[in-house]
Amino acid sequence: MTTPQDVLTPAQVAEQIRKTYNSSLLAGKVALVTGGSRGIGRSIAMALGACGARVIVNYAGNAAAAQETVAAIESVGGQARAVQFDVSNSAQTSEAIKTLEKEFGGFDILVNNAGVSRDNLFIKMKDEEWDANINTNLKGTFVCARAVTMGMMRKRAGKIINISSVIGLTGNMGQAAYAASKAGILGLTKSLAKELASRNIQVNAICPGYITTDMTSAHGDKLIENVLKQIPMERLGDPLEIARMAVFLASDASSYVTGQTLAVDGGMTMV
Ligand code: NAP
Repeated sequence: MTTPQDVLTPAQVAEQIRKTYNSSLLAGKVALVTGGSRGIGRSIAMALGACGARVIVNYAGNAAAAQETVAAIESVGGQARAVQFDVSNSAQTSEAIKTLEKEFGGFDILVNNAGVSRDNLFIKMKDEEWDANINTNLKGTFVCARAVTMGMMRKRAGKIINISSVIGLTGNMGQAAYAASKAGILGLTKSLAKELASRNIQVNAICPGYITTDMTSAHGDKLIENVLKQIPMERLGDPLEIARMAVFLASDASSYVTGQTLAVDGGMTMV
């Protein structure tokens, strides 16, 4: 599936973002985006970079794609670095973040975006499928947030943005483990928001609806046809639409917003 970030040049992506946000909105900020090599994470990394943040682009295995994200950010005057670690590996992730913090002087923004969906009917679900969803999506979010929190507490400032999913709100057939991991992220977000608010650290979650990325391209035309019937705006979202919300939450524009779950889904879920 072709996504808008594949169609638009880096300059056009930056131009789109800068129509809404100033190019110095996040100047001086250091951001870590997990799973920044592709899809939604790449768009978020490019958007934060277009607004002046220095961006660490994490990836699991796709070094070439991560380097493309870095090159895209640099080509519009931003600063970025690709760093490999597996967010489901607590020791590796904590060590990598500690090293980065020493070099960059701590993080101002963390976007927990890295995610997988290993789907199966519940009755057939294997332990490995359950573990892959929980360990990458939920445990990975916990491990990264824990690793940056002390540094943010010292700075008395921080923005943690967790990428959940509409599936975490509604559940879905064949996605019990993914849904549990994404619903878990919402509980984690609210608890962290309460614990860290007095330290001026804000923690929020974005629930994307169906967004055109590699993850949704695996779904097939029939499923997408059915999904479209559930979306009042009658289209899938593009990664830049999630990125715009992430920039809002990363910036001073969201100075009184914490513990919230923000669905960016064309009206698919309404409470
Ligand atoms: P994607 O295109 O499949 O990209 C996944 C990203 O996560 C890649 O950068 C990948 O790195 C990284 N990643 C996976 N496992 C990792 C690990 N263990 N450690 C570090 N990085 C890891 O996914 P996407 O569609 O952009 O989704 C991004 C996030 O949005 C996910 O959390 C997903 O659940 C959520 N979401 C997506 C949709 C949607 O419609 N697409 C809807 C709701 C929520 P490599 O490139 O190195 O493999």
